[in-house]
Amino acid sequence: METKIIDGTGLARQVREEWRERARALAGRGCRPGLAVLIVGDDPASKAYVRNKVRACAELGLRSDHIELPAATSEDELLARIAGLNADPGIHGVLVQLPLPKHIASERVIEAIAPEKDVDGFHPLNVGLLATGHPRFAPCTPAGIMLMLEREGIDPWGQNAVILGASNIVGKPMALLLLQRGATVTLCNSKTRDLAAHTRAADILIAAVGRPNLVTGGMVKPGAVVIDVGINRLPDGKLAGDVDTRSVMGVASRVTPVPGGVGPMTVTMLVVNAVLAAERACADEAKTEDRER
Ligand code: NAD
Repeated sequence: METKIIDGTGLARQVREEWRERARALAGRGCRPGLAVLIVGDDPASKAYVRNKVRACAELGLRSDHIELPAATSEDELLARIAGLNADPGIHGVLVQLPLPKHIASERVIEAIAPEKDVDGFHPLNVGLLATGHPRFAPCTPAGIMLMLEREGIDPWGQNAVILGASNIVGKPMALLLLQRGATVTLCNSKTRDLAAHTRAADILIAAVGRPNLVTGGMVKPGAVVIDVGINRLPDGKLAGDVDTRSVMGVASRVTPVPGGVGPMTVTMLVVNAVLAAERACADEAKTEDRER
């Protein structure tokens, strides 16, 4: 079987092109979408992610405020910055880059972001909306994967979808989105016994663990779609996913590369969510003006 490598970079570029018009239309109505990205400390990987996010915003003409705070920033200081952004009408999306330094409780920080500006979709209210099938913001990585499947003509309806990794950021929301699209979902974690027995039953296999070469060709059902979310830095400095791509070639029908697969789609969905947030905020504003007239 010939295995197609899905071009996440090209697809992300196409989606951004489509959303550029929507962002421009909003700006034309005096409502230029604005995203604030806060980063605490100087973790090099986090800084690289933030740079990509800010660059993607600029590409679509969004306002992006990049706020870098020192590692010693207290939780109260961070919460005060978030409160300021929540109240800023020019900012429609607020994102705090995770992980945060250990002295700051991530849950408290996430809960402090106004739910209507929570473009990462991590606020408990937005998690609840997603779980009940009415997502306001779908978290960017799973949302990017869903769009990628759609654009590749892959319908999850009735398919066996197996997800490796059950984090709040990737695995759990991925499971919910696939379930809502009619897939039969299996969510594996570090305690799963006989991982390969699960992966071999997958029509759609999503690896989001953070362990290079965890998935090998022998674990993949012939013809399956393999989505590699993992980003692992190897000792030689190169990036690798969770899938041993070479060994799944000829077995899977499609596979995403690392880099150039899920990563660019994740960044793109952040910008999409920021534009959506601005569209909703500006529609609400217009309604209020109508009522006051
Ligand atoms: P995490 O560490 O929060 O969660 C890892 C999950 O994997 C846990 O649920 C754990 O139980 C499970 N796990 C551990 N060993 C396992 C095993 N042997 N089999 C099955 N499950 C196992 O990680 P995360 O934040 O979800 O990220 C996972 C990976 O995805 C990382 O490499 C991260 O860098 C990457 N990531 C990529 C993107 C992107 O845009 N491409 C976005 C987010 C995360």
